[in-house]
Formats: sequence, structure tokens, C-alpha cells
Amino acid sequence: MKFQAAITLSIITVIISGCRKPTPPPVEKTWLTMGTFASVTLRSDDAEKIERYHTEAARCFDEINQTLSVYRPDSEITQLNNATGMISVSEQTFQMLEKTIHYSKISGGAFDPTLFPLIRLWGFSGGTTPTNLPEVEAISKLRSNTGYQHMKLNPVSHTAGFDQPGMSIDLGGIAKGFAVDLAYDHLTSSLPANTLINLGGNIRCHGMATPDRPWRIGVRHPFDTSKTLGALSIASGMSLATSGNYERFVYIKEKSYAHIIDPRTGYPVKGMAGVTVLSTTAIEADAMSTALFVAGVENAPALLAECPNTQALLVPDKNPIEIWVSEGFQTVFTPHPEYADSVHLLDPYIEL
Ligand code: FAD
Ligand code: MG
Repeated sequence: MKFQAAITLSIITVIISGCRKPTPPPVEKTWLTMGTFASVTLRSDDAEKIERYHTEAARCFDEINQTLSVYRPDSEITQLNNATGMISVSEQTFQMLEKTIHYSKISGGAFDPTLFPLIRLWGFSGGTTPTNLPEVEAISKLRSNTGYQHMKLNPVSHTAGFDQPGMSIDLGGIAKGFAVDLAYDHLTSSLPANTLINLGGNIRCHGMATPDRPWRIGVRHPFDTSKTLGALSIASGMSLATSGNYERFVYIKEKSYAHIIDPRTGYPVKGMAGVTVLSTTAIEADAMSTALFVAGVENAPALLAECPNTQALLVPDKNPIEIWVSEGFQTVFTPHPEYADSVHLLDPYIEL
């Protein structure tokens, strides 16, 4: 049993397409934060501007790291998790919690941050890697004390808490998207440039990659990360996020278990390999990639029907490979010729 914590590399590769007209080369600044890689890429020959972009984006990410990390004993989320009763939180954290409950609600609980104790039981988010499979009793005991509906927010007193003791949350599946939107909103208002912001595969772009070409992003092959399944051009302001079963996993008795927990079972999700979501905000792309990873191909149309600004590509853990795309994703996605025949359109959702 080995904990193979692949640093969450952006499994979406940024393809900076060659350009016809000479424009300054793309400059990418990369740094480590939140246990993963962050980068800003912009085409500019203004070194000072690039430095300011990097500094501002890093400041936004540090702010989120300080308030929303379960890895930090002094973060607001850790204080919330250790508190009994309601505690006051900052405006930004309150907003984050409101959005978290929103995505938990619309996903029917597939996205559920209160799974934190189970996430740790399986060895993620700072938990110890188990030597054997966790006991069924331990899983069901922890499961009985989860459920986003127990998260309570009071907009008047600006406080947050749980209506059951012993509950705690982990925002690993949504807070990076929130951080990317924070940096995006801040930078595009104060320092507009053709840029791409990437935090552990949570991407948001502004403008074009070159004067005549949009940003083009490759979707990595979940079974062979040296390949891509294809690529898509993303319009200014759009976001892309991916959840996969090979980014973070643990080995228990020589079997690998993904870091995304199915609230219905308390076990790591089985049957899914990768989900890539295209949306108008990074927070929605981040939360929905995790939710769709839990929901699976059959429930994806109903979940996507709740988010009209969101499109998705799902790859179940099957051989031969199947690539399921929503209609809007299909229009912007060019599959690699090798996988063109593996692409299927998700059934449109019909309200029964
Ligand atoms: P996503 O699919 O976006 O999210 C999966 C994560 O969401 C899981 O890792 C788990 O945390 C949580 N989750 C699992 N199941 C569910 C579910 N059903 N519903 C909702 N959430 C679920 N990692 C480190 O190793 N060191 C650090 O110091 C560190 N600091 C961090 C600080 C912050 C503020 C955040 C947000 C994360 C931090 N992380 C850290 C974790 C890491 O950056 C990623 O969050 C993690 O790898 C998962 O992100 P993802 O995009 O790969 O997967
Ligand atoms: Mg996510």
C-alpha cells in the first residue's frame, strides 16, 4: 500500500497554438500552492506586467489558502470545523459557504463537503493512508454524521456552523475554482491582458491566445496521461476544470482508490476515470467536475440541466474507452482522430 500523491498537475494541457503574426511569446509563471501547481500565462513583452500578474494572482491564492485550507490549523475552515455552535466568518468565506451549499443542493448531494471525515479516513486531505480497507462499521458511523443539509448559515449575524455535533467540511473540490475566479475578477479589472490562469487544473482564460486565435486546451487521456483525448478552444472568460481518478489516489492492498468519495456509499467513487467541465465560472467548473464524477454518465444529463452555463465531457473507467460529451461541449471539442469513434453524445435530459 503506497500513497502515491501525484501532485495535482493540471491534467489539461494548455496548447498555445502557433500564430501567424509575430506577437510576443507566451510567458508562463508557475509556482506551488495548495499542494498543487499554479500558473499564469500571458503574451506580453512587458516583464513588469508579467511580474504584476504573477504577484497579484499569488496574493489571491494565498488569501484563499489562509482562509479555506483544511491543511492549516489557523484557517477559518479549521476554526469552523473545530467549533461547537455557530461562529462568525469573513464575508468572503460566507459567500464561499453559500456557493458550496448551492452546488451541494443542485447536485442532490453528489457534491458534499461534509464528507471530510470520510475523505480523511481514506487517507486524503491530511488523513493517514489506511493499511487495510476501512471497516464497514467505521464508514457507516462517519457516513451517518454527514450531509450538507446540516450546514447552517446565518446571513444576519454572518455566522456558520452545523446543526449536528462532530461535523466538519473540506472545500478541496470547490475552493480552487473560487480562488481562480477571485484572481480573474481582480486581474481583468485592474490589468486586462490576454491571459490564462491555472490552479491545479482549474483554468480560466481572458481574451485570446494570439490576436487571431482563442486559447486552446488539451484534455488529457485519463488512462495514458502522456496523450490527450482532443482539444477545445475556449472563449474569453470561460473556465475549464477536471476531476480524475489518477490525480490523487491511495493504494490499499495493491488496489488504487480515488480521492473523490461517493456520499451514497462512503467509498471512493468507482466506475469513473475523468470528467472535464466547461463553464462560465471556475467555481462552477470545479464543483461540477467533482459532482459529475460522483453522478456518473447516466445521471449527468439531469445534473447538467440544472446548470445551463455548463457543458461536460465524461470518461467512465471502461475499456475500450468511451467519451461522453454534452451537446455544447461537442461543438467546441475536437477529438484526437484516434478517439473520434469513441465520442458519444449524452442523452438530452427529459423531465419525467
Ligand atoms: P476535485 O475533483 O476538484 O476535488 C476533489 C477533492 O474534493 C478531494 O480531494 C476532496 O478534498 C474533496 N471531495 C472528495 N469527494 C467529494 C465529494 N463527493 N464532494 C465534495 N468534495 C469532495 N493538498 C495538499 O496536498 N497540500 C496542501 O497544502 C493543500 N492545501 C489546500 C488548500 C486549499 C485552500 C484547497 C482548496 C486545497 C488544498 N489542497 C492541498 C488539496 C488540493 O489542492 C486539491 O484540492 C485536491 O488535490 C483536489 O483537487 P482536484 O482539483 O484534484 O479534485
Ligand atoms: Mg473540483
